[in-house]
Amino acid sequence: MAMILGAEDANDWFYKGEGAANLVLGYCGSSPALLGKVLRVEKIQKGATRSAEECEVLTVHEKLVWAAIGELVESTSKKVIQQAFVTTVLNPLLGTEHMDAGMYVSVSSEFLKIIEKNVHNKRPAWRVDAAEIDLRCDSALLMSDHSIFPSGASKEGSCISVEIKPKCGFLPCSDFISEANAIKKSVTRFRMHQFLKLHKKEVSQLSEYDPLDLFSGSVERINLAIRSLYATPQNNFRIFSNGFLIYGGLGGGMDSIECEAKKLQEMKKAAEDRTKVLIRRDFGIQLDNFLELVSEAIFKSGMLNQLLATQKLDAIDIEGAIHAYYNVIGQHCLVCESLDDASLLHRYSLLHSLSLEESLKIVREYLTATTAKDCSLMISFRPKEGGDLTSNCISLRSSNQHFEYKANYIDMDIKPLEKMVYHYKLDQKIVKFYVENRENGGSPCDFDGGAENIQI
Ligand SMILES: [Zn+2]
Repeated sequence: MAMILGAEDANDWFYKGEGAANLVLGYCGSSPALLGKVLRVEKIQKGATRSAEECEVLTVHEKLVWAAIGELVESTSKKVIQQAFVTTVLNPLLGTEHMDAGMYVSVSSEFLKIIEKNVHNKRPAWRVDAAEIDLRCDSALLMSDHSIFPSGASKEGSCISVEIKPKCGFLPCSDFISEANAIKKSVTRFRMHQFLKLHKKEVSQLSEYDPLDLFSGSVERINLAIRSLYATPQNNFRIFSNGFLIYGGLGGGMDSIECEAKKLQEMKKAAEDRTKVLIRRDFGIQLDNFLELVSEAIFKSGMLNQLLATQKLDAIDIEGAIHAYYNVIGQHCLVCESLDDASLLHRYSLLHSLSLEESLKIVREYLTATTAKDCSLMISFRPKEGGDLTSNCISLRSSNQHFEYKANYIDMDIKPLEKMVYHYKLDQKIVKFYVENRENGGSPCDFDGGAENIQI
């Protein structure tokens, strides 16, 4: 961490956005090393104490799971663990071309204090009420801004990006899936979850998107997937113009069920019209051509092939992996305890007779696959003016224009081991709900919550 950001640097950073845990700053200064970068600054819940955060290192059992990856286990803070997870676990699987682990830089408390003051009025009020910059942090994560090109910052209206959350791209075929849940082998998890989400009013309509199309390796099917994502973006699809969100789920905004269906349709139409105008104005192409461009970039980059292979590390499904989980934590298996099917119990007893090493491998691969199922892709485009067409270029047949693209995986967070119990319960609940309600399109009136009653 050779770089140190002090009070004199603070005014070169501007508010770009924030999530639950971090605030993201863009750079407007003149240092070549920082142009095209963003700085992720940690936040702290209002009223929380730092000591609670400091406890967020690997648990005893997580250290067992990741013991084979020395660097991870030695990490003493959550942020260092996250960075080590990318470099030691994910990079060997996904390559380094589309991954960015970022770099920690030192920040002074004066730097953070000035930032806190500067961004205050830019932050949404509810975010300000919930959390503030953690002034006791002495470092922040410097990463490439994946929604712009490095030189795009100085060139107005030149870069459009899409963020896609692809979800799980294969159907499981594990022998450990119970007969009652056999539907999992023929209907995607995404599709089944849509039914439950509709019922719980988390979405306003069933998504048209099918992850199997996106991961198919066929440019026609990828195109179909992108058009479906555009039609029902939910939180799976967003479009940015020069780093600013112009289309897609805003978390309780466009896809909020609170609105009446008619109002929702009107909002959706307005968002689509505005997006069409912006893409034509900033980019000189029609929306249709833009969606074609996105599909071509996904096809050409081939990055989903590696992502799919990583997702498939979940080889025996959560219905198998949960038993290895109980082996790892050294506790009596609560799933087996609640079963009375002799043939299933026999199958699961095979898992309980595995060595600790074998169980750890299953759990480690399950957790890695879960990260790959939950990450997003950010693909950015800018018009290519003259010069040779490089490997990162796409020519649009329909308009004879050329575009440069770059693609990155984002949100590659390490998943907590203890979440496996939640995953198991949610999986059972999703399947049960789908099986019972698929005939009526996911709008039942007497669902009792199903797997919530499972005693684990
Ligand atoms: Zn078991």
